[in-house]
Amino acid sequence: MAQYLSIKARHADALLFFRMGDFYELFFEDAIEAAKVLDITLTSRGEYDGKPIPMAGVPYHAAEGYLARLIKAGCRVAVCEQTETPAEAKKRGSKAIVNRDIVRIVTPGTLTEDALLPARQDQALAAIALGTGGTEAAIAVCDVSTGRFDVTALAADALADSLMAYPLSELLVSDGDLDKTAVANTVALSSAPVTFRPARSANHKAGENLLKETFNIAALEALGDFNRAELAAIGLLLDYVKLTQAGSEIRLDPPVRARSEGHLAIDPATRTSLEIDRSMRGDRNGSLLGTIDRTVTAPGARLLAARLARPSVDREEIEARLDAVSWFADDRDTVETVRSSLKAAPDLERARTRLRLGRGGPRDLVAIGRALVAAHEAASRLTALGTVLPSRISDATQALNLNKDASLAELSRDLETALSENPPTLARDGGFIAQGWDAALDEARGLRDDSRQIIAALQARYADDTGISALKIKFNNVLGYFVDVPARHGDALMKPPLSETFIHRQTLASNVRFSTQELSELAGKISRAEDEAKGRELAIFDQFCSRIDELNPSLSRSASAIAELDVAAASAEWAFEADAVRPALTDDTTFKATGLRHPVVEAALKKDGQGFTANDLNLSGDDTGTHLLLVTGPNMAGKSTYLRQGALAVILAQSGLFVPARSITLGLCDRIFSRVGASDDLARGRSTFMVEMVETAAILNQATERSFVIMDEVGRGTSTWDGLAIAWAAVEHLHSVNKSRALFATHYHELTKLVEDLPGAANASLRAKEWKDDLVFLHEVQSGPADKSYGVQVAKLAGLPKKAVRRAGQILKQLEAEPSAPESLPLFAAASFTPDTEDNAVPEEIVPPSEADKALQQIDPDSLTPREALDLIYRLKALA
Ligand code: ADP
Repeated sequence: MAQYLSIKARHADALLFFRMGDFYELFFEDAIEAAKVLDITLTSRGEYDGKPIPMAGVPYHAAEGYLARLIKAGCRVAVCEQTETPAEAKKRGSKAIVNRDIVRIVTPGTLTEDALLPARQDQALAAIALGTGGTEAAIAVCDVSTGRFDVTALAADALADSLMAYPLSELLVSDGDLDKTAVANTVALSSAPVTFRPARSANHKAGENLLKETFNIAALEALGDFNRAELAAIGLLLDYVKLTQAGSEIRLDPPVRARSEGHLAIDPATRTSLEIDRSMRGDRNGSLLGTIDRTVTAPGARLLAARLARPSVDREEIEARLDAVSWFADDRDTVETVRSSLKAAPDLERARTRLRLGRGGPRDLVAIGRALVAAHEAASRLTALGTVLPSRISDATQALNLNKDASLAELSRDLETALSENPPTLARDGGFIAQGWDAALDEARGLRDDSRQIIAALQARYADDTGISALKIKFNNVLGYFVDVPARHGDALMKPPLSETFIHRQTLASNVRFSTQELSELAGKISRAEDEAKGRELAIFDQFCSRIDELNPSLSRSASAIAELDVAAASAEWAFEADAVRPALTDDTTFKATGLRHPVVEAALKKDGQGFTANDLNLSGDDTGTHLLLVTGPNMAGKSTYLRQGALAVILAQSGLFVPARSITLGLCDRIFSRVGASDDLARGRSTFMVEMVETAAILNQATERSFVIMDEVGRGTSTWDGLAIAWAAVEHLHSVNKSRALFATHYHELTKLVEDLPGAANASLRAKEWKDDLVFLHEVQSGPADKSYGVQVAKLAGLPKKAVRRAGQILKQLEAEPSAPESLPLFAAASFTPDTEDNAVPEEIVPPSEADKALQQIDPDSLTPREALDLIYRLKALA
């Protein structure tokens, strides 16, 4: 208990998994909490301060599943292992208890176990820090399961946007930065749990030292020229990784400096509303990523997700990616062969990292071996074509060609021969090294197996000698090997001469058990042979781990090459299926697409056997002079689909992917903005209208000439005239101040007149036709404003009661007869709406009530005195 309490005192904020034999035990409050979260039995063990100690436990071999549930429930878990065997402890004194220590702290951002991680998604542990002035900031991000490590310097107000581009699983923030607005905002927006760390760990000096120590370099310049904010963020991150690894070496790849200006900026609201990697319902299905992902390896899936999350603005980079996709897109057979080879490649990236962290097992060795073989095969098929390969594919094939790297080739061969077919998860379970790999191991195993045969022979001999055919030699943990006979034969063995050989050990109700000298000797031999075999296997395992550690740079390259090839081939595969084309990129502000489609809506319609109507979109600003399009049309006509497909085309193209269109030319964008859908944010106390205005403000304040903006139904959340005024002003601002390429969908027909004054704006509308009193959507975009809004017909389609539809039609006719200037918009008193009860009822005259009408309505004649009645007549006269 003293040992427990001293370890627990160092990790008060985590549940302590205290290893005791085959279990992790939890005590006191930890036990109570774990029992609740895991729904396991709460018992007690011993006493402390005169009270029973609450206890709960989980078996160590099943610990992963329990860990996963605790992490999901928001707990942190400190894992405390026995650091010596009971035998070693005994050597220190007969009463000594085994030493224990924390080997790791499990938190949401530091998982490495396969079972706890989504295979096709990175996990990002991020740290943020500010520079001294408070305007500069930095993000350090790592994925401890793959070893990736990125550092980005950026402006403080871009923190939240950039951070959202990562699949964040835990965010580290220094206590000292909490009062800074940029940090506080980022914390408020974070979807991942935030861990606060003491300010001293976010110190640039400490960061510098940790960086040098981790990557074993004398001068920082070897890794890059980091500023203070970057070093502080690095310090915060590495310090935490070190803490959670309980002081063992940090195993990350050297940091890669990313430029925040190197990415297409997508703010959190836009990211959510465009459903890039998650649909509104929170699934991968129904998102852009879910629709286009055809990758066959886990590293490939993660790379594709990362590219879509952070599209590039670097034309050279994008063209290189597109070259790779184009090359595959010319040859579907090659795509097929490469994909079928890669399919057999397990997750090399995570396997190598687990092994380096000392958390790997024999299955990870097998995974590395298989991945190298599969990738080599894919690479050979490509080289065998004998054609000129684009740079990305040629680099990847070089990296994966085992003939070019003797040590990797040797590792791959050795892994293939050394490991048995179906190895256990844990190295200490043994039995994973194949026969014939190691002479000493084979000898130890031979001894063990021979002894087992000798035992079988011994059993036969004893049965013979005693004449008891039911005599068996058995094994259990208490007695070891023993002779077991049915109770009725027990006496015979306990009498001379047999009692000279058989030593009585135990009498049970129906059996009697004995040991013999010979059997004990044999048992000793077997257990020594078994220990030796296991020890030998563990030594071989360790040798492989060190080789993998030494080859880490090559293996890291192989993993990236697998991902690169997979993404290129998968993107070509999707392009075939979706009939997508290579975007032509320019440095101006063109956007010119013919036959553009929305990949997600199209895929959904296809499932229902329906077709998607392709539409052109031209926002080039050069030949037509239009860079802002006002889109009108009835509800359900396809306005938001049209807007979104424009934004998605930019994201796909700048990720280095093909675009579902007949052709598309795109001048690279710096940012994408969207204000679509009424995503309530009531949890944060903002009304729909407030959210809409905050998002609109962000766009009007930040969009540039290079940005791409889509705005859907701005102004809807308030009264008609307020809304129209705001929408009007927003269009003018976008057109003349921001000058962005923009699509603006609106139901305010008044807005369509704006194009007369704005030279860069034009109207477009989605066509619908009335057919036999019904409305048919054509989903076709035509130039010019929509002729009608067809709201009543849409209401009818939606199943509004017939009577209500008819009544709406009547009211509409009345309204259309009125002049439509704002001042004269008719107002209705609730009382003027009386549902017609007869089918052929004549429409009621609808006239806005006058002041006199209103006054009359308030009168209750029965309660008036003659004097009040007279006053009223004078008042009404004055109103009239
Ligand atoms: P709006 O924004 O005008 O109300 P949406 O864009 O939400 O309309 O489209 C409504 C529905 O119409 C979509 O869910 C989709 O099923 C269908 N749709 C939209 N655009 C097209 C198109 N181009 N081709 C085929 N169906 C479409």
